[in-house]
Amino acid sequence: MTTPRTDAPAAPDSPAASASPPETGRFRPRQLAGLLRPRTVEEVVGHVRAAARAAEDSPDGGGSAPVPLHPVSTGRNWGLGSALPVRDGAAVLDLSGLDRIREIDTLRGYAVVEPGVTQDLLAQRLTGTDRVLNLTGASRHTSIIGNILERGVGLHRTRAEDLAGLELVLADGQRVRTGWWPAPGGPAVVQPHGSGPSLNHLFTQASWAAVTAAVVRLRPRPRTVTVLPLTFPADRLNGAVDVLREWTAGHLVPATTKIYDPVAARTYGVRDRYLAHLALTGDPEVTDALTRIVGDRVRTPGSPFEHASPGAADADVHAAYAGRPDPADTLFRRKTGGCCARCLDRERGLLMFLPLVPFRGTAAAEAAGLVRDATADCTAGVTMNVLDADTVDHVVTIGFTPDDPDAARRAHRALDRLHTAFAARGWLPYRSDVDHPLPPHTALHRRLRDALDPHGVFARGRFEGPQPPPAP
Ligand SMILES: Cc1cc2nc3c(=O)[nH]c(=O)nc-3n(C[C@H](O)[C@H](O)[C@H](O)COP(=O)(O)OP(=O)(O)OC[C@H]3O[C@@H](n4cnc5c(N)ncnc54)[C@H](O)[C@@H]3O)c2cc1C
Repeated sequence: MTTPRTDAPAAPDSPAASASPPETGRFRPRQLAGLLRPRTVEEVVGHVRAAARAAEDSPDGGGSAPVPLHPVSTGRNWGLGSALPVRDGAAVLDLSGLDRIREIDTLRGYAVVEPGVTQDLLAQRLTGTDRVLNLTGASRHTSIIGNILERGVGLHRTRAEDLAGLELVLADGQRVRTGWWPAPGGPAVVQPHGSGPSLNHLFTQASWAAVTAAVVRLRPRPRTVTVLPLTFPADRLNGAVDVLREWTAGHLVPATTKIYDPVAARTYGVRDRYLAHLALTGDPEVTDALTRIVGDRVRTPGSPFEHASPGAADADVHAAYAGRPDPADTLFRRKTGGCCARCLDRERGLLMFLPLVPFRGTAAAEAAGLVRDATADCTAGVTMNVLDADTVDHVVTIGFTPDDPDAARRAHRALDRLHTAFAARGWLPYRSDVDHPLPPHTALHRRLRDALDPHGVFARGRFEGPQPPPAP
């Protein structure tokens, strides 16, 4: 975030209200009512209480218009709006200043982290231990909590599965915890659901509280990591995806395969073909045996696959799957044409569309056709993340020149077409951007939201349906 700091949310019509800073999607700039940067949980509580008092005294009660809070962790939700709120008039509550790793327990396999703790910070602290963090393919300088709250996708499992407990500041300023929390050094086994109704995921993809810490599960460090790069031609997509599905269902490969279309595959030096990264982890005897079996199947007559050169899954790729730190963000910079986490919002134009598609060859081929039609007048690449034997998350990335308004308009029209085409097919995105909020909450969601935040202390987010039209 680069907006000037303010110490309190300004009224929306005050001089301190400002347009949002550049973000990589070039969405409609939002009017921000201020930027708050607390450094402690107590300061977060203070800001939430102040917003709650203002909301209770809102016009209905005779006071000035309230300023809802939009909490972010590192605000690097690239392609979906970065740190932008959905609606005008919110104050961004930037929690990156809460950046302590409060605890690491390698025996029981968890860390307690605050919102400003980045993937790389924790990966560094785990060096030399027998535990690793489930990294994502985004910059190492993104927040662990921010991505968990998006229910993002890690290299080994979805980030939702890494979550064991949350510490929250509710809309009335109360501090509470959900899920499982450790007694330091205690014997209790990590149990994300706690006991009774499971509450953690009431607060992911929600905007009902500010998260000030989380218990994050750590994976055992694998003794070996082997990423096999296989390629196949575009006209074999259907058959290749069916074979990968069969291998996944049969546990020959874990449900973590990434399939890059010929545009996305260029990052790894592959031209004009699809590339699949098959990540095998475990004891060397296991990864060796699986590598041999996959090799035999690749050589089977009629197989769509060829082995790519080792450079298509090089040391940087292996380091990411192995959870090793990379403060220089080498792999991320390769994906962004050399751009670092700090400059991406200013220097690159990038939109993302993230639908869930069945793990079937015919579906993959159909999805590729929908993407081709929708993005015919711009540049788009697709990465498919296998989530399980039935589901593949498609990451469609549209790149454009950020200072060319025509290119930005074309990219946004393509994004609109993607939303329309995939919705018509029934393949909905699992997360969305500030201009395409996901379908409205159910009645039960609304009851819970109204119970937790009756006065709208927190800004309504991307998971609460489109903004209602302004009152006449
Ligand atoms: C090249 C590239 C590769 C990428 N690869 C991946 C990938 O592999 N997997 C993946 O999932 N994404 C990926 N992304 C997308 C994105 O950059 C990440 O998901 C990133 O982790 C999100 O930004 P953040 O961590 O700063 O979260 P933030 O932007 O801080 O948070 C995201 C949202 O969560 C909510 N929130 C955040 N913090 C709080 C809080 N403390 N309290 C309450 N609500 C909060 C807000 O609604 C906020 O908008 C990639 C992007 C790029 C450009």
